Amino acid sequence: MRKLLPIVPLVALAALATVAAAPPAVADVKVVATVPSLAAIAKEVGGKHVSVTAISLPTQDAHFVDAKPSLVLKLNKADALLAIGADLEIGWLPALQTQARNPRILSSGAGYLECAAHVTLRDRPAVADRAQGDVHAAGNPHFLYDPRAAAACARAIAAHFARLDGKRAKAYQANLARFLAALDGARARWEKHLAAHRGAPVITYHRSLTYLLDWLGLVEVATIEPKPGIPPTASHVAAVIDLGKAKAVKAVAQEAYYPDKTCALVARKIPAAVVRIPGGADVARGQSYIQHMDEVVNSLAAGLK
Ligand SMILES: [Zn+2]
Repeated sequence: MRKLLPIVPLVALAALATVAAAPPAVADVKVVATVPSLAAIAKEVGGKHVSVTAISLPTQDAHFVDAKPSLVLKLNKADALLAIGADLEIGWLPALQTQARNPRILSSGAGYLECAAHVTLRDRPAVADRAQGDVHAAGNPHFLYDPRAAAACARAIAAHFARLDGKRAKAYQANLARFLAALDGARARWEKHLAAHRGAPVITYHRSLTYLLDWLGLVEVATIEPKPGIPPTASHVAAVIDLGKAKAVKAVAQEAYYPDKTCALVARKIPAAVVRIPGGADVARGQSYIQHMDEVVNSLAAGLK
């Protein structure tokens, strides 16, 4: 019996030695994205090496997000913060960044990435003018509805992850290549789906679908908001209805978080179909960017039929 006793500790030591010899586990890169579609793209690029959280929901207007304390905690632990920029988050993100006490995710920090710097912004005024509350004074921030802008953001995110986590740079590049190939295929399919409607006039609520409509060759003839972020007056709504009738508009498109009564009224008077555009990829339910854009394109096609 006495001779057998040391065997157990020896086995345990051998097991410990095996553990010690294995390469040390590298932690996931903790990523926070301001909007869900950006989170979906970051998941594609980061793959299994990152954990991604979105701050806003697809059912929320990203111009106006409630800066909840739980978000501060997430940002405190984050390695990377991905933002749209162009002032989309200006009303709420700076306060969260300050409260998080994490220098990595400050706008000057190594973990911070602003995607607007990597796309060509539309509606960029010569001089930023927030008079009367225009929320697009730094240009139009709703570029993720254009898959070509999404591809540019994916490239910027892959480079950003490689800077933060150099050992996995090759993996991020491979994920990026796979995503871009899938996106190219999907884009061809979406363009074909809407090809018959090129030139069709559309009315929108907010100037958030400009990139989507321009990409697909549709024409935004009016917005129900007189300026981005400014609620419509009765006289403006009447003018939009007149224009909609004159141009034979077929669809009035809006995200679900904008007031649907005004869109319904405008659509009824023209008459045109109301098109509800999903406000972003439902990442909490595992929806990918491509699946989200499938929904966007399908709802637009159904309204234009
Ligand atoms: Zn906007």
